[in-house]
Amino acid sequence: RTKDEGKAGYRFYEAAMDETLRRRRFIERELRASVDMDQITVAFQPFQDARDGRISGFEALARWTHPDLGDVPPAEFIPVAERIGMIGAIGNTVLRQACSFAANWPAGVKLAVNLSPQQLQAGSIVDYVTATLRETGLPAERLELEITESTCLINTASVLNQIGELKALGVSISLDDFGTGYSALSYLLRFPFDKMKIDRSLVAPAVTDPAARDMLDTILKLAHVLGLNTTAEGVETDEQARLLTALGCDYLQGFGISRPLSAGKVPLFLLEAGQEGGRGVAPVTTAA
Ligand code: C2E
Ligand code: MG
Ligand code: MG
Ligand code: MG
Repeated sequence: RTKDEGKAGYRFYEAAMDETLRRRRFIERELRASVDMDQITVAFQPFQDARDGRISGFEALARWTHPDLGDVPPAEFIPVAERIGMIGAIGNTVLRQACSFAANWPAGVKLAVNLSPQQLQAGSIVDYVTATLRETGLPAERLELEITESTCLINTASVLNQIGELKALGVSISLDDFGTGYSALSYLLRFPFDKMKIDRSLVAPAVTDPAARDMLDTILKLAHVLGLNTTAEGVETDEQARLLTALGCDYLQGFGISRPLSAGKVPLFLLEAGQEGGRGVAPVTTAA
């Protein structure tokens, strides 16, 4: 390896870094305008009851379609939104759009919406949820809000108080991505969760690795001891679904059930699952 090759390699590395930084700055700038430009939409991924296979509800997932960049994945733009103070505006538009659609779904079908830690830190989420439920007509009992361990680690009475107020409205609270965190489990005792969502990194290996299966079994028992319902995330195969059902997992979610759907596809998806499709669905006509 000559000195010149080293220099060329460094220049290449510098250019790649420039490109990464340029994309990051561009995304930061464009994200600030995304909500006003109506570029943020919502996709809906169903979750089903493991025992009877019925679709219990749908999780709202933010989608950002930029005119030049195309679809930017949430894993890329949500952390940026959190850093630049845009997650409140994005979270609000997701909640509002999702509740408007869900208000037209059949009465038994629930809506889950993700909340970032900053949305609880800002201190206005209870008012926003209250107003959104009133304006869209979605009953509070049909809304589930998903928070992660990182929200539980914000060490203020205010976060716990707001969770209490949301629950008092009739909204339920899910712990998202269980098994990916780093903290002690004592927050499971302090927060009044209704549901634990087990991360797919714990689900995938359980069909081949007996230790992973035993761990999943134990986590499901832990959740049930605490009085929580359980959802397995990232269920991709029938084998995984069968195992989870045998272990007593309550709900299944993942590409094996369905990929996230655009709002317009939800009614037909419900009809094809043998369920009522909800208002706003074209009547199914059978050619005579
Ligand atoms: P999450 O809340 O845990 O959502 C599940 C993610 O896993 C979704 O990715 C979903 O498409 C993906 N997924 C579902 N089933 C499978 C599967 O079987 N296999 C695999 N490989 N993936 C599966 P998505 O939509 O890209 O969202 C990623 C994350 O971004 C979400 O994880 C959530 O943490 C965050 N996010 C998305 N929308 C919002 C939002 O409106 N607000 C906030 N605060 N965060 C959001
Ligand atoms: Mg989630
Ligand atoms: Mg999750
Ligand atoms: Mg996850």
